[in-house]
Amino acid sequence: MKIMVSACLMGENCRYDGGNNLNDDVLRMLAGNEVVPVCPEQLGGLPTPRVPSEICDGVVMTRDGTDVDREFRAGAAACLNIAMREKPDLVVLQSRSPSCGVNQRYDGTFTGTLVRGSGVTAQLLLQSGFTVIDAEDVQ
Ligand code: SF4
Repeated sequence: MKIMVSACLMGENCRYDGGNNLNDDVLRMLAGNEVVPVCPEQLGGLPTPRVPSEICDGVVMTRDGTDVDREFRAGAAACLNIAMREKPDLVVLQSRSPSCGVNQRYDGTFTGTLVRGSGVTAQLLLQSGFTVIDAEDVQ
């Protein structure tokens, strides 16, 4: 099986604060499979570290008020291109990210409030017919 995965789940230090989201359950799932790691925010041209962002009324904004929607959408489009080329059987993405979150994301108020809904990359891959699951659903 071929699995596309958020690179931070594999321990790559691509998270906004320069850290990662190493996830042992995801690593176990990946073992023995062909793996395609992606970080949409880096693919969209954003630096690491970077100011954290949330989706505010449909537009991705940093905590300090910069509109980064274009970079986030570019990263999502880059991931879709990779997915169309690689044809993964499954996509596993990091929870709650404004790019990668599948089940939930923050509400745009930067108060730690979660709402149902996906990040922009997860949304695009789901809409395009890929099977996408949230890392929190990997046991
Ligand atoms: S954009 Fe996705 S892959 Fe990149 S650090 Fe954020 S959650 Fe991880």
